[in-house]
Amino acid sequence: MSEFRTGTGYDIHPLVEGRRLILGGVEIPFEKGLLGHSDSDALTHAVCDALLGAAALGDIGRHFPDSDERWKGASSLDLLARVVELIKERGFRVGNIDAVVVAERPRLAPFIEQMRSRLASVLEVDMEHVSVKAKTNEGLDSVGRGEAMAAHAVAMIVAR
Ligand code: MG
Repeated sequence: MSEFRTGTGYDIHPLVEGRRLILGGVEIPFEKGLLGHSDSDALTHAVCDALLGAAALGDIGRHFPDSDERWKGASSLDLLARVVELIKERGFRVGNIDAVVVAERPRLAPFIEQMRSRLASVLEVDMEHVSVKAKTNEGLDSVGRGEAMAAHAVAMIVAR
């Protein structure tokens, strides 16, 4: 077994009225929120997929399918906790995470530290091992038009 393994994750959700906006487990005041089966936390979903990818355990859709009523409205931090358990069962712990949220509005900078803190506690690592960055899409495409938010993440996991 390799000592270090890396994985990548990506997610995108439509942005609609009448939904809460949750990113990295943090509720962000905004006139719209992300649409989907769970709380639609695209950042946490990308982190889940990066961790699952690092352990070659498939993806979030395989472990938490939309068709399963158990995950309807689920907190994505609970899904992430389950993913952490899965990688621990395979003999790994989380090394570090680097993630990017792509959102035109609102400004996410004031919430980044809280997102890092929430994610780190579920990942069972110090905040120093969790990086979250935010950027706009420079007005381009669906994200730039404010129709969606996307997230990318890279994870390293370490053999225990
Ligand atoms: Mg998702």
